[in-house]
Amino acid sequence: MQKNIQSVRGMRDIHSQDAACWMYLEDSLKKLSNRYGYEYIKFPILEKTALFKRSIGDNTDIIEKEMYTFADRNGDSLSMRPEGTAVCVRAGLQQGLLYNQRRKFWYLGSMFRHERPQQGRYRQFEQFGLEVFGISSVDVEVELILFCNRLWRELGIENVLQLNINTIGTIETREEYKRELVSFFRDNIDSLDEDSVRRLETNPLRILDSKNPNLKDIISRAPSILDYLDDGSKEHFIELKKMLENLKITYRVKPTLVRGLDYYNDTVFEWSTDSLGAKSEVCAGGRYDKLVSLLGGHECPGVGFAMGLDRIVSLMQQIDVNYNQKTDLFVISDDILSVRSKAMEIAEGIRSNYPDKSIMIYTGNGNFKKQFKEADKYKAKVAVILGDKEFKNDSISAKILNDDTSQTMYTMQEFDRFLHNNLV
Ligand code: ATP
Ligand code: MG
Repeated sequence: MQKNIQSVRGMRDIHSQDAACWMYLEDSLKKLSNRYGYEYIKFPILEKTALFKRSIGDNTDIIEKEMYTFADRNGDSLSMRPEGTAVCVRAGLQQGLLYNQRRKFWYLGSMFRHERPQQGRYRQFEQFGLEVFGISSVDVEVELILFCNRLWRELGIENVLQLNINTIGTIETREEYKRELVSFFRDNIDSLDEDSVRRLETNPLRILDSKNPNLKDIISRAPSILDYLDDGSKEHFIELKKMLENLKITYRVKPTLVRGLDYYNDTVFEWSTDSLGAKSEVCAGGRYDKLVSLLGGHECPGVGFAMGLDRIVSLMQQIDVNYNQKTDLFVISDDILSVRSKAMEIAEGIRSNYPDKSIMIYTGNGNFKKQFKEADKYKAKVAVILGDKEFKNDSISAKILNDDTSQTMYTMQEFDRFLHNNLV
């Protein structure tokens, strides 16, 4: 016998109760985006490699070692998208959506990064993101945070998430800070690990983001970016904190929060949790006012976030909620072509009249006992039965399952009333 072919390492199948949880989360996100007035945008999975190189920055983990990059048949270098923001900007520019406009987008889809797979870290993972263009004030940053806050609340996971904010100033002031930081770490080079020594040359800010516990002490003594801000960035950060306080959103200022991507400025934020083993981030975002021009557009402020849905699903699964889809009504019928046809017609009629309800019908061979068993398996609330007797009398029987009332035969008119009273 041949060996089964397995999925690619770090890429998962999602099914059964997990899939139900995913669907609940995705539905919630779609509805919430609509409730906040954001518009849906969809973009390709493959992009030219140059897009990510130019936007994300050469000395980042993503570009250095995580991208799925290959030459297509024409020899063009393509990459599977590792994140959504750069693609959203590329699409916005190409489709003329950003010039002199204020736009608010949401997207949802798979991202790809060649990382070492572990709990909460996959090579194909799902991100949901919001991206706002043309608005440079803090209120929109607060709106993004309020959106997340509401999502956590409505999912019931607000208690395990905390908001960290920081500002990383302008790209210019950051250069000055970087010089100070490099000189501090050079003076303490013996306390650094190999990765950080390398980053000293390439991307010193990322040292602050190191997950190595041995570096905690040295990082806590490093100069703080908050001492290097210009007046504009300082004012912006004060306004952000003030607005969050006005709206009673709890936050923590985390001066080492820098984000791994080069294109951010001023506000950065993340939502993190202690409930997923190692401390981990489920959502990260910030302002990127220079990204649109970096990718060839006119100056256009931007701000957004991306949340990692795989990790959010794990949090949802830690609370005791059943996300399985409920079957509202189950149609059972004699296994005879004419009767089954009629039963299907009835099921279609109920689906038309009750579009929000889940109506199943038994398909395949099986006696009534087997069919009732299946109705139980799907935890249907109501069973509708079309036997030979009902078929001949133009009537139909129904029974509320898991309840002592007996099965009753109705005329079609009575049956409509029964549904009206019981399918709520
Ligand atoms: P991390 O520090 O965990 O590597 P990151 O800074 O690389 O995260 P971002 O690029 O900011 O992550 O992506 C936003 C969110 O996407 C993260 O907060 C996380 O929830 C999720 N995410 C990132 N990489 C992965 C992955 N490989 N598997 C699952 N989720 C991921
Ligand atoms: Mg990463």
